[in-house]
Amino acid sequence: MKAQLISIGNELLIGDTVNTNASWMGQFLNDLGIEVTRVHTISDEQELIASTVSESMKESDLVITTGGLGPTHDDITKTAIAELFGINLIQNDAVLNYIKELFASRNIPFSESNTWQAMVPENCEVLFNKAGTAPGMWFHEHDCFLAVLPGVPYEMKYLMKKGVAEKLRQESSSIGYIHTQYLKTAGIGESTLSDYILGDLTSYLNSHVSMAYLPSFGSVTLRITGKGATKEEAIQHTESLIRHIKLRAGDFIYAEEKETTLSEQVGKLLIEKDLRIGTAESCTGGLIASTITDVPGSSSYMQGGIVAYENEVKIAELGVSQHDLDEFGAVSKPIALQMAHGVAKALGTEIGISTTGVAGPGGGSEEKPVGTVWIGYFSPEQHFAVKALFTKDRLVNKQRSTIVALEIVRRVLSGIDELPYGLKKEFA
Ligand code: ATP
Ligand code: MG
Repeated sequence: MKAQLISIGNELLIGDTVNTNASWMGQFLNDLGIEVTRVHTISDEQELIASTVSESMKESDLVITTGGLGPTHDDITKTAIAELFGINLIQNDAVLNYIKELFASRNIPFSESNTWQAMVPENCEVLFNKAGTAPGMWFHEHDCFLAVLPGVPYEMKYLMKKGVAEKLRQESSSIGYIHTQYLKTAGIGESTLSDYILGDLTSYLNSHVSMAYLPSFGSVTLRITGKGATKEEAIQHTESLIRHIKLRAGDFIYAEEKETTLSEQVGKLLIEKDLRIGTAESCTGGLIASTITDVPGSSSYMQGGIVAYENEVKIAELGVSQHDLDEFGAVSKPIALQMAHGVAKALGTEIGISTTGVAGPGGGSEEKPVGTVWIGYFSPEQHFAVKALFTKDRLVNKQRSTIVALEIVRRVLSGIDELPYGLKKEFA
């Protein structure tokens, strides 16, 4: 089945609203096994709406529009569709009663423009919208299905899940169930993961199972999708591939849910082991502390952080040696080691983590180019620093340093000896 999406709204074209509907729907339909071949973004113009819908219906099996169903003068999608089919709008009593009751329950006066919401083209089946007031509409004309949905993202999502997916299952036996499993990895690049760790996966991939690499800052998420006639069958199709990935890449996987973050995972480990952490940050300027404290409940393991940007602060607050600063410079192994140890001592924590680096764009030298970052780790069992070379971009360097620092903590606490990106532990 091939589909086209039509996003209607002037606000999308002038950049006031980002077209998140189309990307969400693209993924949703892809998961149902429907190929989206084109996305149109068009203005609130009746002629243009009618011609775009008409052309798209000729080219595909399913067309879905969003937007322009509201009660205001600029919402004309319904009129455009009714005229395209040469059909009258009629009042749908069920929808009208629902809106009246909804308004009454909220103590909002019912005005004439709201009856317009209950007017639908004669040839449509109403997709009841319990998330709002504008009903969705389902048409089957000229060998094509057309769904007309409101633009408000949560209303659209409600109707995609409740209305459109159900209609498609009724109409087409090829629409089955989808199971999606996410495996989130950190500290390894996409190509290393695929070429050296996971190896050739073709024997696991077929029309029932697919996998995608979704890279983002310092993290690669694997999305494994199974398709089946039932939910259980869809899950079952993914099992052998997931087993293989966990066997090969288990150490790199920090989460199995899309929403779980690295800092959440680090938090869980700290709670499990009853340990507290403190941060001593130079080039990351507090970003590690900020990221750790993104997690609700982090006060149970996060003691605090010292942003030691100037050397004076490194000396006064963290006990860093003036002599070593003079001899090795602030961006060096001894200073990273002393900062990590110093913060643990100053704040009375078991674990201390530190960063000191050349974030850029200026300040680089031949010996320490922009992007050079030393990350220090201290606990009573292990005291080491690692040298990383990130990018020329200041903000990217802050983010990378943060992710690598957190991943170091995760690996040490998980008993994994290998460090992210093959970095080497350097001891005092
Ligand atoms: P309503 O019945 O609530 O008026 P509607 O169908 O008329 O819904 P619009 O008026 O076009 O929808 O848009 C309603 C809201 O949804 C606006 O805030 C708009 O910015 C947002 N919206 C519309 N289209 C999209 C889209 N493609 N992606 C993300 N947001 C959108
Ligand atoms: Mg609109």
